[in-house]
Amino acid sequence: MLFGDDSLFSDPAWDLSKIDNMASLEEKVKTCTRCNLRAGCRGAVFGEGNPGAQVVLCGEGPGADEDLLGRPFVGRAGQLLDKILEACGFERFVHVYILNIVKCRPPGNRTPTEEETTACRHNLNAQLRILRPRVLILLGAVALQALLDPKGKITKARGHWVERNGLFVMPTYHPAALLRNPSLKRDSWEDFKQVVAKYREFIEPGHYSPHC
Ligand code: SF4
Repeated sequence: MLFGDDSLFSDPAWDLSKIDNMASLEEKVKTCTRCNLRAGCRGAVFGEGNPGAQVVLCGEGPGADEDLLGRPFVGRAGQLLDKILEACGFERFVHVYILNIVKCRPPGNRTPTEEETTACRHNLNAQLRILRPRVLILLGAVALQALLDPKGKITKARGHWVERNGLFVMPTYHPAALLRNPSLKRDSWEDFKQVVAKYREFIEPGHYSPHC
């Protein structure tokens, strides 16, 4: 299973298996110093949204704005993500939960190393175990490679559902990539239209979206 094989990541020194709610898990993760990233940032950005939501979006890691405010996706890329969600008829604190592969900001917004993503995988696994989403949206190559396919290319994987034990996974572009290259927005929107269709199929048949 995508994130269910905790044996791969089990670590008696960082046992999160008894924690069964997001508030307690957040408290614990905020004390995490399992990799070097913690020393270079203000604190772990745990994630936010509705813990009961059935749609989870997973990005890469916090940037400068996120590190400053302690919230995920609040900079320019986050504002674009909010617009996309709005077009889908989703509200951040109602329909979705938003988190990242690593919880601490990599210096200079560099890509997290494999060592760092592996260290933080315990935290991410625990989040996903508690959230139990029905739909998981992977934003960008780092999320794709950490959770689905270590050699995956986002340009090829995007727009294609992968189903694992009732969990539907949709890789798509990270909003930061859309800011760098606006020509990707059309494909991104096609991917999110598929998410809305899946949401109507499995979660809320009458879901209203202003644009699809
Ligand atoms: S990035 Fe993750 S593993 Fe590393 S210190 Fe922060 S919370 Fe811990």
